[in-house]
Amino acid sequence: MDYVAAELRKLDLEVRLEEVRVPRWTRGVETAELIDYPGQAAGTTQKIVVTALGGTVPTPPGGITAEVVVVDNFDQLAALGRQKVAGKIVLFNELFDKRKAAAGLALEAYGEAVAYRAEGPKHAAELGAIAALVRSVGGADYRLPHTGWSAPSGIPAGAVTSEDADLIAHLAAQGRARMRLTLTSENGPEVLSYNVIADLKGSEHPEQVVIVSGHLDSWDLGTGAIDDAAGVAVAMETAELIQRLHLHPKRTIRVIAWMDEENGGRGHDAYAKAHASEFANYAAVMESDLGAAHPLGFNAKVSATTLGWLKPVQKILESFGANIVRPTSYSPGSDITPMANAGVPALGIMPDGRTYFNFHHTAADTLDKIAPQELRENAAAMAVMGYAIASLLEPLPR
Ligand SMILES: [Zn+2]
Repeated sequence: MDYVAAELRKLDLEVRLEEVRVPRWTRGVETAELIDYPGQAAGTTQKIVVTALGGTVPTPPGGITAEVVVVDNFDQLAALGRQKVAGKIVLFNELFDKRKAAAGLALEAYGEAVAYRAEGPKHAAELGAIAALVRSVGGADYRLPHTGWSAPSGIPAGAVTSEDADLIAHLAAQGRARMRLTLTSENGPEVLSYNVIADLKGSEHPEQVVIVSGHLDSWDLGTGAIDDAAGVAVAMETAELIQRLHLHPKRTIRVIAWMDEENGGRGHDAYAKAHASEFANYAAVMESDLGAAHPLGFNAKVSATTLGWLKPVQKILESFGANIVRPTSYSPGSDITPMANAGVPALGIMPDGRTYFNFHHTAADTLDKIAPQELRENAAAMAVMGYAIASLLEPLPR
């Protein structure tokens, strides 16, 4: 937060930190092993690579031991019913569809699989399960587990790697597979944190705002380079480019580095509460939160009239292939949802997503995954779109 604020001050922006109270959750020890399973050699156990899901309650320090019940989806869980689920560890083995990701539908593949990470533990708990595991969401096969937010369920919740999910499913199909699972995560009291907000004041209509943004927080397994340091960099670079080129947009360009996107969205909630009365004056809100691979254009929750107004901007973006504007019915970024729902034109950068979910929320989300040239293209896309909307003679229609 301090680093981002200091860099934005160097660009002569008006910078402030706005308070956000965020949940505090620490990961702790995370281990799992099969201790009793078909074909087991005497004196051995089988290591299972597991990671805790965000916000999970812990197991006792010595772990829990129970039979694993494997289901592919919610219907199978419901069909088993309480009698076959109570007292067990449920594993949701929903596959991430790599074919969709490879064909350019990575977000769709993610949406299908992530439903089990988000809601699976809650469903399992309702049927008396004592813990819940999900198959890691994502396309990589390097035995890396994927973490992320999960709805509070009251039972310990983790993710196992796709390889381990396959192994458990294979063994459980042959007979009883019992697991010892230890997760010592801790939920502490809320702590004070901040959204970083920086204004490049508009020359004619400073009260009319174009937001460019990314989120500061990231999951702890990696370093959060693609999710979402890249998005913060793209938003900062938008202001940097406009300043470096000595441009003077009519409306205010507001850079926001959001806090707590990953663990509940308290940053955008706090912002919406403090700024809701301004939303009528917002020209557009933008977020970059899908990595920094080559940008293809924008997902856009905008009216048909607005789409027409964006056509000349698409012409400019065409020079580096970032010219698609794909209408969506939902907000194209989680932090800009409150404004999108209030009717503010909302745009999210749409990068080539084919590899994003190989790294997202895993230990492999590190800076080497960022290609500088592609990061620059993302910044250029947001700068072109942001500057254009901030410079229109009339505000972008809704
Ligand atoms: Zn993100």
